[in-house]
Amino acid sequence: MTVHSSPTTFADRHIGARRQSDIDTMLKAVGYDTLDGLVDSAVPDSIRQDKPLTLEGALSEVQVLAELRKLANRNKMAVQMIGQGYYDTVTPPVIRRNILEGPAWYTAYTPYQPEISQGRLEALLNFQTMVQDLTALPVANASLLDEATAVAEAVLLMRRANKNKTAKDGKTVLDADLLPQTIAIVLGRAEALGFEVEVADLTNGLPDGDINGVVLQQPGVSGRVWDQSAVIAEAKERGALVTVAADLLALTLITPPGEQGADIAVGSTQRFGVPLFFGGPHAAYMAVRDGMERTLPGRIVGVSKDNAGVPAYRLALQTREQHIRREKATSNICTAQALLAIVSSFYAVYHGPDGLKAIAETVHNNARALAATLKHAGRELVSDTFFDTITVRVPGKAAKVITAAEARGINLRLVDADTVGVSVDETTTPEVLSAVAVAFGAGPVVSGQGFELPESVLRTSTYLQHPVFNTHRSETQLLRYIRKLSDRDLALDRTMIPLGSCTMKLNATAEMEAISWPEFASIHPFAPDSQTEGWRELIAGLEADLAEITGYDQVSIQPNAGSQGELAGLLAIRGYHHSRGDQQRNVCLIPASAHGTNAASAVLAGMKVVVVATAADGTIDHADLEAKIEAHKDVLSAIMITYPSTHGVYDSDVREVCDAVHAAGGQVYVDGANLNALVGLAQPGKFGGDVSHLNLHKTFCIPHGGGGPGVGPVAAKAHLAPFMPGDANKAAHEAGHGVAISASRFGSAGVLPISWAYVKLMGGAGLTEATKSALLAANYVAARLNEHFPVLYTGESGLVAHECILDLRELTARTGVTAEDVAKRLIDFGFHAPTLSFPVAGTLMVEPTESEDLAEIDRFIEAMVTIRKEIDQVAAGDFTVETSPLRNAPHTAAAVVSSEWDRTYPREQAAFPVSSLRQDKYFPPVGRIDGAAGDRNLVCSCPPLDAFEDKTAFEN
Ligand SMILES: *Cc1c(COP(=O)(O)O)cnc(C)c1O
Repeated sequence: MTVHSSPTTFADRHIGARRQSDIDTMLKAVGYDTLDGLVDSAVPDSIRQDKPLTLEGALSEVQVLAELRKLANRNKMAVQMIGQGYYDTVTPPVIRRNILEGPAWYTAYTPYQPEISQGRLEALLNFQTMVQDLTALPVANASLLDEATAVAEAVLLMRRANKNKTAKDGKTVLDADLLPQTIAIVLGRAEALGFEVEVADLTNGLPDGDINGVVLQQPGVSGRVWDQSAVIAEAKERGALVTVAADLLALTLITPPGEQGADIAVGSTQRFGVPLFFGGPHAAYMAVRDGMERTLPGRIVGVSKDNAGVPAYRLALQTREQHIRREKATSNICTAQALLAIVSSFYAVYHGPDGLKAIAETVHNNARALAATLKHAGRELVSDTFFDTITVRVPGKAAKVITAAEARGINLRLVDADTVGVSVDETTTPEVLSAVAVAFGAGPVVSGQGFELPESVLRTSTYLQHPVFNTHRSETQLLRYIRKLSDRDLALDRTMIPLGSCTMKLNATAEMEAISWPEFASIHPFAPDSQTEGWRELIAGLEADLAEITGYDQVSIQPNAGSQGELAGLLAIRGYHHSRGDQQRNVCLIPASAHGTNAASAVLAGMKVVVVATAADGTIDHADLEAKIEAHKDVLSAIMITYPSTHGVYDSDVREVCDAVHAAGGQVYVDGANLNALVGLAQPGKFGGDVSHLNLHKTFCIPHGGGGPGVGPVAAKAHLAPFMPGDANKAAHEAGHGVAISASRFGSAGVLPISWAYVKLMGGAGLTEATKSALLAANYVAARLNEHFPVLYTGESGLVAHECILDLRELTARTGVTAEDVAKRLIDFGFHAPTLSFPVAGTLMVEPTESEDLAEIDRFIEAMVTIRKEIDQVAAGDFTVETSPLRNAPHTAAAVVSSEWDRTYPREQAAFPVSSLRQDKYFPPVGRIDGAAGDRNLVCSCPPLDAFEDKTAFEN
């Protein structure tokens, strides 16, 4: 037995296979003597970077936390009363520690494998039910990215859904009382797509002309609450659709959009227990009326049943999504904000309807008290009906009031030189109200007299009556509910998640620690720069490190998902062409194998998608590429390529592809989601890319959160720098910047300490080691499994990159056993399935990442080999595919202990196909789920509890 020296660096902890003996075992299986030898063969010379990365590092965990502490201390905490879509809130500690900081929740993947995701699916269904109840609309999705982009999605939904002959091609009308960042985002999207937007004060009705859709805000940015039913009725009359951006806390007291006649409600759920996070991540929501569910963007959780008739949750109507519909998808959004949606749903579970209403009443009463005090002192309010925000006229004195408040540690909103906004929230104390009054030069706070909401806007309907919002009142109950749900799921804290293209690597605890420090988490995105030095230095440092890693000149971390990075990059390309007078360049070439978001993003950037064929070996079909370039050369805007390709291979001809597109006047977008195969070895900015996005929630260790948050930085060469994302909160576009992509300047800033820490912990050499280890792990899996499941594509050297595609199609044709059967059978072994049928139908794509150790990889290989033997049993006629343990997988505890057992295979084979499972066994709570049944009969809110008791109710 070899004794290895104890690990000393963080890289030794991050990388799973670190023991030389393990590395040697893996190399031997692949047929190489050294790791560098394997890497030199796998990665084409033509793209290798010539210098090692120059990055600071590698710091220890203790050092990194000390550095983060220094940065945190350079942010100034203040009482945040700026409002404008962001409000301070109390994250109940039981939710903070056990969900936001709980690995069972934050390391989970998007619930595409519903049998091992019942816990998070239930939490997301609670979120949808909460949104449906509070907005009074019947269908809600399971989160969007932020409020401003959610409004943009609603505007596009109205443009798709409005079939009225005259209205459908009309303009979009935005009320002037919308959040300014919302208006900026919608204008940016509309400009790319070429439709008209008018911003108008809608208090007294709609402007003239054909109107496709109208967006209102309740309460408005001024704080005003008003009866919108008349303007909504007028819109309907004229054939327009109506969206209301609404504050969920306000909706506990005021008439919800659904009852006012709105078609769509959108907004942020941030103030339901999600920290300010300097602008994000927060879950936005969208709810629609009946009949619009098939055009709704984002994911919807629905109720279906499993193979025993037991009700079970799964993602519904996925055929609307970009994975399937590509350029015809309802949105480009893939990663959304699942973890934050779950936090806010638990906030509602924790408080219940009465608790939420009590919070809202306190907030409202405090705002009324402040209003009365200011009015008493002779100040004038912009609106006398409000929920939590008052806007005060202080002619010529706004800056003075702001400064006086800041001196008392309070941030107010500077609207203009004559106007100041104050937003009250659940953390506001009487002392704070007094200090605000003093800043305005007003006397002591009088108790809330006057300013009652008028009857016409008072909510009369009930909400959150489902038991889930009325049961878990004690912390013991709530803790157990949280634990019960997470125990139903498989996340990275229990098993390797070998999802190709998703890079489910370690999310180290030290990387996670700082995100909930109040000096990072409690900063308002629009706080003055003097209070955010630490944040901005961290962000600038991370952007610089990412520029060094990618070989680009400039990086913006604003996009809050990979899809948003794609849109930002494509809009930069568009801006560049337009600046040169090339308005006609609008064709985007996209390989057939591309990720679905690519095509959906190109459409949002106003481009026309032209598909380039894939050759038999998985590379881009050169003849087809040349033909497409030739056919479109005058209108060619860009090509989007993924590198290494979505087939998990380093194509050696990538430079030629880039050159050919450049020669025709096009730009090259390199989808950098697979950067885990490149860091330290090759730089897209140096081998031909003009712009890329990266996924910090893949390569740079931000956990996947069960479907978000994400960060999708856009990185570009200098010529595109002037078109990088601008700031949506700046009245005019800053000089030298492009359109804003997210509501706040730094997008999902709150999770950036994770990636910052990862880079500092690893340093340039450690990051490069990680890439090499990821290559080794993938090639080891490919080498070991190839004889059981042929590896579909390899590069010229016979090697794969950081992932490999296992081809099941021949086995399926011969035995009927499908890739899905294998994916489900893996659950019986306690594994999350690899990526199923992407990018090639009938295959499984495996990405072990550098973080898995040899024993865990071997456990996976053992499972796959065992499954292959079962497929052979089908081939040999031991059982038919229908009666096999494969088709009947996964097996629940209820199924294997049932007193009736008439299967063609023993119970032991069902539950314990390998002996180690006798000790460590995960039983899924439900068996194989029938997705189609749920789509035919869409149920997307919490079902009555007795639905689960009476199983026969769901039986065929
Ligand atoms: C994950 C991925 C994306 C999309 O990223 P999101 O953050 O989910 O929007 C795009 N392209 C590729 C190749 C990916 O793997």
